[in-house]
Amino acid sequence: MSIHIASEWIQRDETIEVLNKFDGSVIDEVTRATREDVDRAIEAANDAKDTMASMPAHERASILRETSRLIDERKDEFAEVMAAEAGKPIETARGEVGRAVSTFQLSAGEAERLSGEEIPIDAQPGNGNRLAFTKRFPVGVVGAISPFNFPLNLVAHKLGPAFAGGNTVVHKPATTTPLTAVKLAETLFEAGLPRDALNLVIGSGSTVGEALLDSDDIDHYSFTGSRAIGKRIKERSGLAGVSLELGNNSPAIVHEDAPDIADAASRIIDGAFSYGGQMCISTQRILVHESRHDELLDELVSQASELVVGDPLNEDTDVGPLISEDDAERIIEWVESAKEDGATVEFGGTRDGAVVQPTIVDGATQEMDVVCQEAFAPVIAVQTYEDLSTAIELADDTPYGLQAGIFTASHDVGLTAAMNIECGGVMINDIPTFRADQQPYGGAKESGIGREGPKYAIEELTEERVICFRPTSDLSI
Ligand code: NAP
Repeated sequence: MSIHIASEWIQRDETIEVLNKFDGSVIDEVTRATREDVDRAIEAANDAKDTMASMPAHERASILRETSRLIDERKDEFAEVMAAEAGKPIETARGEVGRAVSTFQLSAGEAERLSGEEIPIDAQPGNGNRLAFTKRFPVGVVGAISPFNFPLNLVAHKLGPAFAGGNTVVHKPATTTPLTAVKLAETLFEAGLPRDALNLVIGSGSTVGEALLDSDDIDHYSFTGSRAIGKRIKERSGLAGVSLELGNNSPAIVHEDAPDIADAASRIIDGAFSYGGQMCISTQRILVHESRHDELLDELVSQASELVVGDPLNEDTDVGPLISEDDAERIIEWVESAKEDGATVEFGGTRDGAVVQPTIVDGATQEMDVVCQEAFAPVIAVQTYEDLSTAIELADDTPYGLQAGIFTASHDVGLTAAMNIECGGVMINDIPTFRADQQPYGGAKESGIGREGPKYAIEELTEERVICFRPTSDLSI
């Protein structure tokens, strides 16, 4: 597999092996980009700015619609690549492909709708009969840096709005999951994207990522990944714009009036264990009213015991491997440490290589790693509370603030949670893991800066310019 710079696919001997995350076999090799490659990619993206900025909205939209159609046509190929390189269960991978199909469609719609507004300039005395309006212009070159866990749809959330807004892109995917990015770039070119508008550089964060941050010629960094790297990007981005989509340790509150505990448990199991908990909004912290604790725990254990754990390419698998054995080792250490501090492991708590059993830790407390850190693994930590205000305080007692969920029969209880948990989104009668691709999506506190979702991302990736006419007559006839 090749990298793509200045309209050319480049293949060299210096490569990165891409592994099947379940059995460790080598699936493919990709050319490793050098620092010089990154500089050339940025230069090419700058050279292509005018081509994209002058492309009419209908052309940008039709490229994005065609991309959507082609992804749909190749849905099985995309899903299989993701299942192998990301260890994503095949059914979950198919779900991600379906979402990317709609993310590109939504982006096409935003290309067509992108507009400014009239400014009522005569509302201020002294402005005479001037007329003013705004028009949105592309920021220019977007440096897109993406994580391993959604190698297609999270990239679609960067590339779709960037091209919808008339920008060019240099994309660096995660080193562990670059194959989906190559396939997506091929698809975009086939759909008609000018070849110099997308440059794809593959290599580690410490070389390729840092080379992107060293540049003064990137106009906006669009990053999704960990809090630590997000902070580094913010520090190093100078006067360029930044959008940061970072982590979370998402809470789900199950209140005393939750209407259906079996349903709440089923949503929690889905939100916690889908893709082995490797989602930024995985359901991690369960805050359950003490009166419903036993009932919920029984349901969680019973439903967790039905999950099929193993090879992500097997149609029946619910939980596959983590992205690396190191991550599996880390999370088991956190679970062991919680046990030493008084928690009990009600289910799971073991691993086989990179595959971690779905794990339910009960009696967790705020200072345990499984609670206060982002687990990014198939682990839930259960805590009880007596009154709603304590539940909300516990949910909010974190530097993160991406999304939260609450199960309750009362509108007022749901709204109280929504008004008092500082985060990007609150799901009432659902898990924090729910996300619709058209919603504004992003974090409060240390979970990020800015919002994705094509309608919102395109605003971050374009700039308003005000255009003001001073008539030379009074315009009367
Ligand atoms: P990560 O380690 O932060 O990596 C993300 C990307 O940054 C990768 O492409 C990585 O490259 C690159 N990178 C690493 N060091 C860099 C540096 N010094 N300069 C520039 N780029 C650098 O995150 P991850 O492990 O792939 O993904 C998991 C994290 O992403 C979790 O914290 C999760 O919550 C977060 N996430 C957030 C959202 C959201 O929308 N809020 C969605 C998904 C995931 P390498 O692969 O080469 O290291």
